[in-house]
Amino acid sequence: MSLAHLREVSELRLALNQSRLAGRSVAVVPTMGALHRGHQELVRWARTLADEVAVTIFVNPTQFGPGEDFDRYPRPLEADLLRAREAGATLVFAPSAREMYPPGEDTRVQVGRLAEGLCGASRPGHFVGVATVVAKFFSLFAPATFVFGQKDYQQLKVIERMATDLLYDVRIASHPIVREPDGLALSSRNVYLSQEERKAALGIPRALHAAASALLAGERNGARLLEIAESTLGRQALAVEYVELRDADSLEPRALDGEIALPTLLAIAARSGATRLIDNIVLGRDAVPEVG
Ligand code: AMP
Repeated sequence: MSLAHLREVSELRLALNQSRLAGRSVAVVPTMGALHRGHQELVRWARTLADEVAVTIFVNPTQFGPGEDFDRYPRPLEADLLRAREAGATLVFAPSAREMYPPGEDTRVQVGRLAEGLCGASRPGHFVGVATVVAKFFSLFAPATFVFGQKDYQQLKVIERMATDLLYDVRIASHPIVREPDGLALSSRNVYLSQEERKAALGIPRALHAAASALLAGERNGARLLEIAESTLGRQALAVEYVELRDADSLEPRALDGEIALPTLLAIAARSGATRLIDNIVLGRDAVPEVG
């Protein structure tokens, strides 16, 4: 099937009207580009959920803070188009910032408690930027199925809440984390890592693996599970931002004393060199990740 590459909202509206008239359902995979096998898995899965799959490619300026990597974020558009097509996308929407944020724009989506803590603590305003741009995509594509990865778990929860609260006619589908054979979660930011930094980064999936294995082996104490993750992480080689246990649905912090309730999110953010990496597992729900 051919791949339509659209840049303007008006073109997209026309294309989506045609799909609707033809009775074809649409699934959407929002991305910031620099597509990797993880994104491609989302696209392949999306194909099973709808007749057409749109991939959005947009490095959203409002979700980056000062000093973050907005300017140097990779933007290999030609390679992305090939990868999107290879995975079965029928449409790529890659708008300019001006298209998504019309001149004079002055509107943001306010987010609540789910956006507090974890990544919200170190990236003030991040989830407002995410919610705002995703709301725009919801407005453009609804009714549609939207596919998000569980790698950005807090983002997924914020977006699910927003879709419900703002009454969008969308279905949210979430895909498990796609990993390298050695356990590292695929990320567009992995290209920043030197060999040494990549090696250090493996402490993250190993920490998730260790805690999940301990749980399977019968460890139920929250503090102990956290300690197992922390001690496996390799703090010497990584700058750890957080290692936390939270309710997998409300994201409320889990009490650590005594037996932990399940399912519980174990979420980690750490820097390897200058590169910020995030990863997670839902204990009591996800399979134990394989690590090298
Ligand atoms: P990004 O381009 O990094 O903003 O990611 C776009 C979408 O792909 C988000 O829903 C991410 O959660 C998802 N994603 C990115 N990397 C992975 C991965 N390794 N496994 C599963 N989903 C991913």
